[in-house]
Amino acid sequence: MDRESDVARATFFGLHALQHRGQESAGIAASNGRRIKVHADNGLVTQVFREEDLKVLTGHIAIGHNRYSTKGATRKYNVQPYLINGPGIEFAFGHNGNVINAGELRREMQEWGVTFRTSSDSEVIAHLFANAPGQTWGERAAYCMRRLKGAYSLVIMTNNELVGIRDPLGIRPLCIGRVNNGYVLASESCALDNLGATFERELDPGETVVITEDGVQSDIWSGTDRSTHSMCVFEHIYIARPDSTLAGKLAHRARQAMGRELAKMHPAEGDLVIGVPDSGISHAVGYSEESGIPYGEGLVKNRYVQRTFIQPDQAMRNLGVRLKFNPLRDVIEGKRIVVVDDSIVRGTTTPRIVEMLRKAGATEVHVRISAPPITSTCHFGVDMSTLDQLIAANNSIDEIRELIDADTLGFLDVDHLMRAVGVQDDSYCRGCFTGRYPIPVQLEMSKMELEEPMGVEGD
Ligand code: AMP
Repeated sequence: MDRESDVARATFFGLHALQHRGQESAGIAASNGRRIKVHADNGLVTQVFREEDLKVLTGHIAIGHNRYSTKGATRKYNVQPYLINGPGIEFAFGHNGNVINAGELRREMQEWGVTFRTSSDSEVIAHLFANAPGQTWGERAAYCMRRLKGAYSLVIMTNNELVGIRDPLGIRPLCIGRVNNGYVLASESCALDNLGATFERELDPGETVVITEDGVQSDIWSGTDRSTHSMCVFEHIYIARPDSTLAGKLAHRARQAMGRELAKMHPAEGDLVIGVPDSGISHAVGYSEESGIPYGEGLVKNRYVQRTFIQPDQAMRNLGVRLKFNPLRDVIEGKRIVVVDDSIVRGTTTPRIVEMLRKAGATEVHVRISAPPITSTCHFGVDMSTLDQLIAANNSIDEIRELIDADTLGFLDVDHLMRAVGVQDDSYCRGCFTGRYPIPVQLEMSKMELEEPMGVEGD
Protein backbone atom coordinates (compact mmCIF):
# COMPACT_ATOMS: atom_id res chain seq x y z
CA MET A 1 0.00 0.00 0.00
CA ASP A 2 1.18 3.52 -0.64
CA ARG A 3 -0.11 5.39 2.33
CA GLU A 4 0.37 3.74 5.68
CA SER A 5 -3.01 4.52 7.17
CA ASP A 6 -4.98 3.12 4.23
CA VAL A 7 -4.23 -0.50 4.86
CA ALA A 8 -6.75 -1.08 7.66
CA ARG A 9 -9.39 0.86 5.73
CA ALA A 10 -8.81 -1.29 2.64
CA THR A 11 -9.20 -4.38 4.84
CA PHE A 12 -12.39 -2.89 6.28
CA PHE A 13 -13.84 -2.51 2.76
CA GLY A 14 -12.72 -6.03 1.91
CA LEU A 15 -14.45 -7.42 5.00
CA HIS A 16 -17.55 -5.42 4.18
CA ALA A 17 -17.66 -7.03 0.72
CA LEU A 18 -17.30 -10.44 2.40
CA GLN A 19 -19.87 -9.89 5.13
CA HIS A 20 -22.06 -12.64 3.65
CA ARG A 21 -19.43 -15.21 4.65
CA GLY A 22 -19.85 -14.58 8.36
CA GLN A 23 -21.79 -12.25 10.57
CA GLU A 24 -20.90 -13.25 14.11
CA SER A 25 -17.75 -11.22 14.56
CA ALA A 26 -15.29 -9.07 12.64
CA GLY A 27 -11.69 -8.08 13.22
CA ILE A 28 -8.61 -6.52 11.69
CA ALA A 29 -4.93 -6.84 12.62
CA ALA A 30 -2.38 -4.37 11.22
CA SER A 31 1.39 -4.27 11.40
CA ASN A 32 3.60 -1.22 11.06
CA GLY A 33 6.72 -3.33 10.77
CA ARG A 34 7.42 -3.19 14.52
CA ARG A 35 4.26 -4.29 16.23
CA ILE A 36 0.89 -5.81 15.46
CA LYS A 37 -2.35 -4.21 16.66
CA VAL A 38 -5.71 -5.97 16.61
CA HIS A 39 -9.25 -4.66 16.85
CA ALA A 40 -12.00 -7.31 16.84
CA ASP A 41 -15.41 -7.84 18.39
CA ASN A 42 -18.73 -9.63 18.00
CA GLY A 43 -21.02 -8.01 15.43
CA LEU A 44 -21.10 -6.94 11.79
CA VAL A 45 -18.17 -5.13 10.20
CA THR A 46 -19.92 -1.76 10.39
CA GLN A 47 -20.81 -2.33 14.05
CA VAL A 48 -17.33 -3.36 15.10
CA PHE A 49 -15.35 -0.58 13.41
CA ARG A 50 -15.73 3.12 13.96
CA GLU A 51 -13.48 5.72 12.36
CA GLU A 52 -11.30 5.95 15.46
CA ASP A 53 -10.78 2.17 15.53
CA LEU A 54 -9.46 2.21 11.97
CA LYS A 55 -7.24 5.23 12.59
CA VAL A 56 -5.16 3.44 15.20
CA LEU A 57 -4.64 0.40 12.98
CA THR A 58 -1.78 1.98 11.06
CA GLY A 59 0.80 0.03 9.13
CA HIS A 60 1.69 -1.44 5.79
CA ILE A 61 0.15 -4.91 6.18
CA ALA A 62 -3.23 -5.94 7.55
CA ILE A 63 -5.45 -8.98 7.68
CA GLY A 64 -9.16 -9.20 8.51
CA HIS A 65 -11.71 -11.84 9.39
CA ASN A 66 -15.50 -12.26 9.51
CA ARG A 67 -16.60 -15.16 11.66
CA TYR A 68 -19.21 -17.78 10.80
CA SER A 69 -18.77 -20.47 13.38
CA THR A 70 -18.63 -24.17 12.74
CA LYS A 71 -16.69 -24.90 15.92
CA GLY A 72 -16.92 -22.99 19.19
CA ALA A 73 -19.51 -20.61 20.60
CA THR A 74 -20.27 -17.06 19.45
CA ARG A 75 -18.23 -15.61 22.27
CA LYS A 76 -15.79 -12.79 22.33
CA TYR A 77 -12.82 -15.05 23.05
CA ASN A 78 -13.39 -16.69 19.67
CA VAL A 79 -13.23 -13.53 17.55
CA GLN A 80 -10.43 -13.42 14.98
CA PRO A 81 -7.78 -12.50 13.91
CA TYR A 82 -5.90 -14.14 16.76
CA LEU A 83 -2.58 -12.76 17.87
CA ILE A 84 -0.31 -15.76 18.42
CA ASN A 85 2.99 -15.86 20.27
CA GLY A 86 4.96 -19.00 19.59
CA PRO A 87 8.55 -19.95 20.21
CA GLY A 88 10.44 -17.08 18.53
CA ILE A 89 7.51 -16.03 16.40
CA GLU A 90 4.57 -13.65 16.61
CA PHE A 91 1.79 -13.45 14.06
CA ALA A 92 -1.85 -12.58 13.49
CA PHE A 93 -4.03 -15.32 12.10
CA GLY A 94 -7.41 -15.75 10.36
CA HIS A 95 -9.06 -19.01 9.30
CA ASN A 96 -11.95 -20.05 7.07
CA GLY A 97 -13.02 -23.69 7.13
CA ASN A 98 -13.20 -26.49 9.65
CA VAL A 99 -10.57 -28.95 10.80
CA ILE A 100 -11.89 -32.32 11.96
CA ASN A 101 -8.92 -33.52 14.00
CA ALA A 102 -8.62 -30.31 16.06
CA GLY A 103 -9.52 -32.05 19.36
CA GLU A 104 -6.73 -34.58 19.01
CA LEU A 105 -4.15 -31.97 17.97
CA ARG A 106 -5.15 -29.72 20.81
CA ARG A 107 -4.64 -32.46 23.38
CA GLU A 108 -1.24 -33.21 21.89
CA MET A 109 -0.16 -29.56 22.01
CA GLN A 110 -1.48 -29.18 25.56
CA GLU A 111 0.93 -31.95 26.49
CA TRP A 112 3.72 -29.86 24.96
CA GLY A 113 2.62 -27.02 27.27
CA VAL A 114 0.64 -24.87 24.81
CA THR A 115 -2.18 -22.90 26.45
CA PHE A 116 -5.42 -22.38 24.53
CA ARG A 117 -7.60 -19.32 25.05
CA THR A 118 -10.47 -20.11 22.70
CA SER A 119 -12.74 -23.03 21.87
CA SER A 120 -12.25 -22.97 18.11
CA ASP A 121 -10.37 -25.24 15.76
CA SER A 122 -8.78 -22.10 14.30
CA GLU A 123 -6.62 -21.57 17.38
CA VAL A 124 -5.43 -25.16 17.14
CA ILE A 125 -4.28 -24.53 13.57
CA ALA A 126 -2.63 -21.27 14.61
CA HIS A 127 -0.64 -22.94 17.40
CA LEU A 128 0.33 -25.80 15.15
CA PHE A 129 1.88 -23.23 12.81
CA ALA A 130 3.53 -21.43 15.73
CA ASN A 131 5.13 -24.67 16.91
CA ALA A 132 5.83 -26.21 13.52
CA PRO A 133 9.41 -27.10 12.64
CA GLY A 134 10.96 -25.16 9.77
CA GLN A 135 12.38 -21.73 9.03
CA THR A 136 10.09 -20.71 6.20
CA TRP A 137 6.31 -20.61 5.89
CA GLY A 138 6.53 -23.24 3.18
CA GLU A 139 8.33 -25.59 5.59
CA ARG A 140 5.91 -24.86 8.41
CA ALA A 141 2.98 -25.39 6.05
CA ALA A 142 4.42 -28.72 4.90
CA TYR A 143 4.43 -29.94 8.52
CA CYS A 144 0.95 -28.57 9.24
CA MET A 145 -0.53 -29.91 6.01
CA ARG A 146 0.68 -33.37 6.99
CA ARG A 147 -1.03 -33.07 10.36
CA LEU A 148 -4.26 -31.17 9.71
CA LYS A 149 -7.34 -32.90 8.37
CA GLY A 150 -10.03 -30.73 6.87
CA ALA A 151 -10.64 -27.31 5.44
CA TYR A 152 -8.45 -24.29 6.04
CA SER A 153 -7.92 -21.23 3.97
CA LEU A 154 -5.64 -19.03 6.05
CA VAL A 155 -4.28 -15.51 6.17
CA ILE A 156 -1.29 -14.97 8.43
CA MET A 157 0.64 -11.77 9.08
CA THR A 158 3.95 -11.16 10.82
CA ASN A 159 5.57 -7.76 11.12
CA ASN A 160 6.82 -7.92 7.59
CA GLU A 161 5.12 -10.78 5.79
CA LEU A 162 1.63 -11.52 4.55
CA VAL A 163 0.98 -15.23 4.08
CA GLY A 164 -1.92 -17.02 2.36
CA ILE A 165 -2.44 -20.77 2.66
CA ARG A 166 -5.01 -23.06 1.08
CA ASP A 167 -5.43 -26.62 2.34
CA PRO A 168 -4.37 -29.49 0.05
CA LEU A 169 -8.00 -30.40 -0.67
CA GLY A 170 -8.74 -26.79 -1.67
CA ILE A 171 -12.11 -26.91 0.07
CA ARG A 172 -12.57 -23.19 0.81
CA PRO A 173 -11.61 -20.54 -1.74
CA LEU A 174 -8.76 -18.04 -1.50
CA CYS A 175 -7.54 -15.69 -4.19
CA ILE A 176 -4.82 -13.13 -4.74
CA GLY A 177 -4.92 -9.78 -6.50
CA ARG A 178 -2.87 -6.62 -7.00
CA VAL A 179 -3.68 -3.18 -5.75
CA ASN A 180 -1.53 -0.09 -6.22
CA ASN A 181 1.96 -1.31 -5.34
CA GLY A 182 0.76 -4.10 -3.15
CA TYR A 183 -1.06 -7.41 -2.99
CA VAL A 184 -4.32 -8.50 -1.52
CA LEU A 185 -5.64 -11.90 -0.48
CA ALA A 186 -9.35 -12.59 -0.12
CA SER A 187 -11.78 -15.49 0.13
CA GLU A 188 -13.66 -14.21 -2.90
CA SER A 189 -12.88 -12.04 -5.88
CA CYS A 190 -15.81 -9.67 -5.14
CA ALA A 191 -13.67 -8.19 -2.33
CA LEU A 192 -10.91 -7.37 -4.82
CA ASP A 193 -13.39 -5.63 -7.11
CA ASN A 194 -14.54 -3.42 -4.27
CA LEU A 195 -10.96 -2.37 -3.57
CA GLY A 196 -10.24 -1.63 -7.22
CA ALA A 197 -7.69 -4.46 -7.14
CA THR A 198 -7.04 -6.66 -10.14
CA PHE A 199 -7.73 -10.33 -9.73
CA GLU A 200 -4.62 -12.41 -10.38
CA ARG A 201 -5.65 -15.96 -9.61
CA GLU A 202 -7.05 -18.38 -7.07
CA LEU A 203 -4.50 -20.10 -4.87
CA ASP A 204 -3.99 -23.75 -5.71
CA PRO A 205 -4.82 -26.47 -3.22
CA GLY A 206 -1.80 -27.04 -0.96
CA GLU A 207 -0.32 -23.65 -1.88
CA THR A 208 1.43 -21.20 0.43
CA VAL A 209 2.12 -17.67 -0.82
CA VAL A 210 4.40 -15.38 1.12
CA ILE A 211 4.18 -11.69 0.26
CA THR A 212 6.99 -9.39 1.37
CA GLU A 213 8.54 -6.18 0.10
CA ASP A 214 10.46 -8.35 -2.36
CA GLY A 215 7.31 -9.71 -4.00
CA VAL A 216 5.42 -13.01 -3.88
CA GLN A 217 6.88 -16.41 -3.31
CA SER A 218 4.78 -19.51 -3.83
CA ASP A 219 5.17 -23.09 -2.67
CA ILE A 220 2.95 -26.08 -3.24
CA TRP A 221 3.17 -28.79 -0.62
CA SER A 222 4.71 -31.87 -2.21
CA GLY A 223 2.10 -34.13 -0.59
CA THR A 224 -0.75 -32.39 -2.41
CA ASP A 225 -2.58 -34.94 -4.50
CA ARG A 226 -4.38 -33.57 -7.55
CA SER A 227 -6.83 -36.45 -7.51
CA THR A 228 -8.18 -35.33 -4.14
CA HIS A 229 -8.85 -31.67 -4.98
CA SER A 230 -12.25 -31.11 -3.45
CA MET A 231 -13.58 -27.58 -3.54
CA CYS A 232 -16.95 -27.28 -1.77
CA VAL A 233 -19.69 -27.29 -4.38
CA PHE A 234 -21.96 -25.41 -1.97
CA GLU A 235 -19.73 -22.36 -2.55
CA HIS A 236 -21.04 -22.31 -6.12
CA ILE A 237 -24.64 -22.99 -5.09
CA TYR A 238 -25.01 -20.56 -2.23
CA ILE A 239 -22.08 -19.35 -0.17
CA ALA A 240 -20.17 -17.12 -2.57
CA ARG A 241 -21.56 -13.86 -3.78
CA PRO A 242 -22.92 -14.14 -7.34
CA ASP A 243 -20.35 -11.62 -8.56
CA SER A 244 -17.40 -13.73 -7.37
CA THR A 245 -15.38 -15.97 -9.65
CA LEU A 246 -14.78 -19.45 -8.26
CA ALA A 247 -12.72 -22.12 -9.98
CA GLY A 248 -12.63 -19.81 -13.00
CA LYS A 249 -16.42 -19.43 -13.20
CA LEU A 250 -18.64 -16.52 -12.20
CA ALA A 251 -20.93 -17.82 -9.42
CA HIS A 252 -23.93 -16.13 -11.05
CA ARG A 253 -23.30 -18.05 -14.29
CA ALA A 254 -22.94 -21.39 -12.48
CA ARG A 255 -26.23 -20.68 -10.67
CA GLN A 256 -28.01 -19.73 -13.87
CA ALA A 257 -26.83 -23.02 -15.34
CA MET A 258 -28.16 -24.86 -12.25
CA GLY A 259 -31.53 -23.17 -12.72
CA ARG A 260 -31.59 -24.32 -16.34
CA GLU A 261 -30.77 -27.90 -15.37
CA LEU A 262 -33.48 -27.72 -12.73
CA ALA A 263 -36.05 -26.64 -15.33
CA LYS A 264 -35.06 -29.60 -17.51
CA MET A 265 -35.36 -32.03 -14.60
CA HIS A 266 -38.49 -30.59 -13.03
CA PRO A 267 -40.61 -28.57 -15.44
CA ALA A 268 -43.61 -26.79 -13.92
CA GLU A 269 -46.93 -25.48 -15.14
CA GLY A 270 -46.72 -21.89 -14.00
CA ASP A 271 -47.38 -18.28 -14.95
CA LEU A 272 -44.42 -16.65 -13.25
CA VAL A 273 -40.97 -17.71 -12.02
CA ILE A 274 -39.69 -15.86 -8.98
CA GLY A 275 -36.51 -16.30 -6.97
CA VAL A 276 -36.05 -16.13 -3.21
CA PRO A 277 -33.78 -13.09 -2.86
CA ASP A 278 -30.89 -12.77 -2.93
CA SER A 279 -29.33 -16.17 -3.34
CA GLY A 280 -32.21 -17.75 -5.33
CA ILE A 281 -32.30 -15.04 -8.00
CA SER A 282 -29.57 -16.28 -10.34
CA HIS A 283 -31.05 -19.80 -10.19
CA ALA A 284 -34.54 -18.46 -10.93
CA VAL A 285 -33.28 -16.49 -13.95
CA GLY A 286 -31.83 -19.72 -15.37
CA TYR A 287 -35.05 -21.62 -14.65
CA SER A 288 -37.09 -18.97 -16.46
CA GLU A 289 -34.75 -18.94 -19.48
CA GLU A 290 -34.95 -22.69 -19.89
CA SER A 291 -38.68 -23.08 -19.19
CA GLY A 292 -39.86 -20.05 -21.13
CA ILE A 293 -42.00 -19.01 -18.13
CA PRO A 294 -41.56 -15.26 -17.54
CA TYR A 295 -39.35 -14.18 -14.67
CA GLY A 296 -40.43 -11.46 -12.26
CA GLU A 297 -39.74 -10.10 -8.82
CA GLY A 298 -42.28 -11.50 -6.40
CA LEU A 299 -40.60 -11.11 -3.03
CA VAL A 300 -38.94 -8.07 -1.61
CA LYS A 301 -36.17 -8.56 0.86
CA ASN A 302 -35.32 -6.20 3.65
CA ARG A 303 -31.64 -5.74 2.95
CA TYR A 304 -30.87 -4.96 6.55
CA VAL A 305 -31.91 -8.33 7.89
CA GLN A 306 -28.91 -10.55 7.39
CA ARG A 307 -28.77 -14.19 6.35
CA THR A 308 -31.13 -16.12 8.61
CA PHE A 309 -29.25 -19.37 8.43
CA ILE A 310 -26.14 -17.70 9.77
CA GLN A 311 -27.91 -16.67 12.98
CA PRO A 312 -26.68 -19.26 15.41
CA ASP A 313 -29.98 -20.45 16.90
CA GLN A 314 -33.33 -21.64 15.56
CA ALA A 315 -35.60 -19.12 17.35
CA MET A 316 -33.63 -16.28 15.79
CA ARG A 317 -33.83 -17.94 12.39
CA ASN A 318 -37.64 -18.26 12.55
CA LEU A 319 -38.08 -14.62 13.43
CA GLY A 320 -35.50 -13.66 10.82
CA VAL A 321 -37.45 -15.18 7.91
CA ARG A 322 -40.59 -13.22 8.80
CA LEU A 323 -38.72 -9.95 9.06
CA LYS A 324 -36.82 -10.60 5.91
CA PHE A 325 -39.32 -11.11 3.08
CA ASN A 326 -42.49 -9.45 1.90
CA PRO A 327 -44.44 -10.55 -1.20
CA LEU A 328 -45.55 -8.18 -3.99
CA ARG A 329 -49.28 -8.89 -3.84
CA ASP A 330 -50.18 -7.33 -7.22
CA VAL A 331 -47.58 -9.44 -8.96
CA ILE A 332 -48.46 -12.70 -7.20
CA GLU A 333 -52.24 -12.56 -7.01
CA GLY A 334 -54.13 -15.00 -9.23
CA LYS A 335 -50.98 -16.61 -10.60
CA ARG A 336 -49.41 -20.04 -10.51
CA ILE A 337 -46.04 -19.24 -9.01
CA VAL A 338 -42.84 -21.21 -9.54
CA VAL A 339 -40.57 -20.17 -6.69
CA VAL A 340 -36.89 -21.05 -6.99
CA ASP A 341 -34.43 -21.15 -4.10
CA ASP A 342 -30.88 -22.41 -3.92
CA SER A 343 -31.32 -24.92 -1.09
CA ILE A 344 -33.38 -26.26 1.77
CA VAL A 345 -31.29 -26.96 4.84
CA ARG A 346 -33.29 -27.06 8.06
CA GLY A 347 -36.59 -26.19 6.38
CA THR A 348 -37.02 -22.85 8.13
CA THR A 349 -37.30 -20.57 5.11
CA THR A 350 -39.32 -22.47 2.50
CA PRO A 351 -42.61 -23.13 4.39
CA ARG A 352 -42.79 -19.49 5.39
CA ILE A 353 -42.22 -18.36 1.82
CA VAL A 354 -44.94 -20.70 0.54
CA GLU A 355 -47.35 -19.42 3.18
CA MET A 356 -46.57 -15.82 2.26
CA LEU A 357 -47.16 -16.48 -1.43
CA ARG A 358 -50.49 -18.18 -0.76
CA LYS A 359 -51.59 -15.31 1.47
CA ALA A 360 -50.65 -12.92 -1.33
CA GLY A 361 -53.09 -14.73 -3.62
CA ALA A 362 -50.99 -17.31 -5.50
CA THR A 363 -53.32 -19.96 -6.92
CA GLU A 364 -50.57 -22.59 -6.94
CA VAL A 365 -47.05 -22.66 -5.52
CA HIS A 366 -44.44 -24.87 -7.17
CA VAL A 367 -41.15 -25.00 -5.29
CA ARG A 368 -37.94 -25.72 -7.20
CA ILE A 369 -34.64 -26.13 -5.37
CA SER A 370 -31.39 -25.70 -7.24
CA ALA A 371 -29.42 -28.08 -5.01
CA PRO A 372 -29.92 -31.75 -4.25
CA PRO A 373 -31.53 -32.66 -0.91
CA ILE A 374 -29.01 -32.13 1.91
CA THR A 375 -29.01 -35.54 3.55
CA SER A 376 -25.61 -35.56 5.27
CA THR A 377 -23.70 -33.30 7.61
CA CYS A 378 -20.91 -30.91 6.61
CA HIS A 379 -17.53 -31.29 8.30
CA PHE A 380 -15.65 -28.69 6.35
CA GLY A 381 -17.01 -25.26 7.17
CA VAL A 382 -20.77 -25.06 6.67
CA ASP A 383 -22.76 -25.08 9.88
CA MET A 384 -24.87 -28.19 9.32
CA SER A 385 -23.25 -30.56 11.72
CA THR A 386 -26.03 -32.81 13.02
CA LEU A 387 -28.42 -34.97 11.04
CA ASP A 388 -31.46 -34.13 13.13
CA GLN A 389 -31.27 -30.51 11.89
CA LEU A 390 -31.49 -31.50 8.24
CA ILE A 391 -35.02 -31.79 6.90
CA ALA A 392 -33.99 -33.98 3.96
CA ALA A 393 -32.08 -36.39 6.19
CA ASN A 394 -35.30 -37.17 8.03
CA ASN A 395 -38.05 -36.87 5.43
CA SER A 396 -38.76 -38.10 1.94
CA ILE A 397 -39.23 -35.53 -0.82
CA ASP A 398 -42.97 -36.02 -0.68
CA GLU A 399 -42.96 -35.53 3.09
CA ILE A 400 -40.99 -32.32 2.63
CA ARG A 401 -43.51 -31.17 0.02
CA GLU A 402 -46.26 -31.70 2.58
CA LEU A 403 -44.33 -30.00 5.36
CA ILE A 404 -43.71 -26.91 3.26
CA ASP A 405 -47.25 -27.05 1.81
CA ALA A 406 -46.17 -26.74 -1.84
CA ASP A 407 -48.26 -28.01 -4.76
CA THR A 408 -45.16 -29.59 -6.26
CA LEU A 409 -41.52 -29.77 -5.20
CA GLY A 410 -38.43 -30.60 -7.24
CA PHE A 411 -34.73 -30.74 -6.30
CA LEU A 412 -31.75 -30.80 -8.63
CA ASP A 413 -29.75 -34.02 -8.52
CA VAL A 414 -25.98 -34.36 -8.19
CA ASP A 415 -25.38 -35.23 -11.86
CA HIS A 416 -27.27 -32.21 -13.15
CA LEU A 417 -25.59 -30.03 -10.54
CA MET A 418 -22.14 -31.10 -11.64
CA ARG A 419 -23.09 -30.58 -15.27
CA ALA A 420 -24.06 -27.01 -14.40
CA VAL A 421 -20.75 -26.45 -12.60
CA GLY A 422 -19.01 -27.88 -15.65
CA VAL A 423 -17.25 -30.83 -13.98
CA GLN A 424 -17.86 -34.53 -14.28
CA ASP A 425 -14.98 -35.84 -12.18
CA ASP A 426 -14.61 -36.00 -8.39
CA SER A 427 -12.93 -32.62 -8.03
CA TYR A 428 -15.62 -31.22 -5.74
CA CYS A 429 -16.73 -32.07 -2.24
CA ARG A 430 -20.44 -32.82 -2.41
CA GLY A 431 -20.55 -34.80 0.83
CA CYS A 432 -23.65 -33.01 2.14
CA PHE A 433 -25.62 -34.51 -0.77
CA THR A 434 -23.98 -37.92 -1.01
CA GLY A 435 -22.50 -38.74 2.41
CA ARG A 436 -19.18 -39.39 0.62
CA TYR A 437 -16.39 -37.05 1.65
CA PRO A 438 -12.89 -36.42 0.31
CA ILE A 439 -11.41 -37.77 3.57
CA PRO A 440 -12.94 -40.08 6.19
CA VAL A 441 -15.15 -38.30 8.74
CA GLN A 442 -17.23 -39.23 11.75
CA LEU A 443 -20.97 -39.32 11.11
CA GLU A 444 -21.59 -36.13 13.07
CA MET A 445 -19.41 -33.56 14.73
CA SER A 446 -19.97 -31.48 17.82
CA LYS A 447 -19.78 -27.76 17.30
CA MET A 448 -18.99 -27.33 20.99
CA GLU A 449 -16.38 -30.11 21.09
CA LEU A 450 -13.62 -27.75 22.20
CA GLU A 451 -15.80 -25.58 24.44
CA GLU A 452 -15.84 -27.46 27.74
CA PRO A 453 -12.36 -28.42 28.69
CA MET A 454 -11.11 -24.92 28.20
CA GLY A 455 -12.32 -23.28 31.34
CA VAL A 456 -12.59 -19.93 29.56
CA GLU A 457 -14.79 -17.63 31.53
CA GLY A 458 -17.18 -14.91 30.55
CA ASP A 459 -17.06 -13.28 27.15
P1 AMP B 1 -33.30 -23.36 5.75
O1 AMP B 1 -34.21 -22.20 5.98
O2 AMP B 1 -32.63 -23.84 6.98
O3 AMP B 1 -33.94 -24.47 4.99
O4 AMP B 1 -32.08 -22.83 4.87
C1 AMP B 1 -32.26 -22.61 3.52
C2 AMP B 1 -32.24 -21.15 3.23
O5 AMP B 1 -31.09 -20.54 3.82
C3 AMP B 1 -32.16 -20.90 1.75
O6 AMP B 1 -33.01 -19.80 1.46
C4 AMP B 1 -30.71 -20.55 1.49
O7 AMP B 1 -30.62 -19.46 0.61
C5 AMP B 1 -30.15 -20.21 2.83
N1 AMP B 1 -28.95 -21.03 3.10
C6 AMP B 1 -28.63 -22.21 2.62
N2 AMP B 1 -27.46 -22.64 3.09
C7 AMP B 1 -27.00 -21.71 3.90
C8 AMP B 1 -25.82 -21.55 4.68
N3 AMP B 1 -24.88 -22.46 4.71
N4 AMP B 1 -25.67 -20.42 5.38
C9 AMP B 1 -26.61 -19.48 5.35
N5 AMP B 1 -27.75 -19.57 4.65
C10 AMP B 1 -27.96 -20.66 3.92
